[in-house]
Amino acid sequence: MPDEKRGMAFIDFDNINITARNQHNIKYLNFNKLREILLKDLRCVGCIVYLPNKMSSMISHIQKSGLEVKVVSPGKSVDGKLIFDLITNAHNDSFDVAVIASGDKDYISVVQEVKKMKKDVIIGSFSSALAHGMTSVSDGIINLDEYLHDITQKTYEYKCTNCGSDFELPFKLFANQNPLCRKCFRAQKQ
Ligand SMILES: [Zn+2]
Repeated sequence: MPDEKRGMAFIDFDNINITARNQHNIKYLNFNKLREILLKDLRCVGCIVYLPNKMSSMISHIQKSGLEVKVVSPGKSVDGKLIFDLITNAHNDSFDVAVIASGDKDYISVVQEVKKMKKDVIIGSFSSALAHGMTSVSDGIINLDEYLHDITQKTYEYKCTNCGSDFELPFKLFANQNPLCRKCFRAQKQ
């Protein structure tokens, strides 16, 4: 469709992930599905996940889903990086519709700014994480509560070859890969 609008999604990993975990008991998100849900009816011109440095063990999982990952260095704010990219891409006319996956109130003023640039902004959020005032400033809300089943990533069970503990991964390891739990994985990386 030539008149399809260009959509770019900006995913605040912490905001979505913490709510998914704490409120809905979702251990791992299916980022591929999340992107589909956020950008439905739009032509995807970008989908970026903003990941705090402490969660960098998630990079490969997210990249395997085909999404772009930006790791925010320690001490820097995820909001700041996301907002910078959002404004820059709006200014460069890279999209018609921005979809922000986060209900955080810190984004309210940037939504208003992007709307001044004649862009639409849609918010994707769990209802419990949606800040008061977000509905009135945005062009639409995608309620992620309605997609809990779709965005739950299937997991695989492994035993750590280093410490012997059982753990789950959101993807299958190759036969030549040693299963390592998060703790041992981190220890090995240092
Ligand atoms: Zn281990």
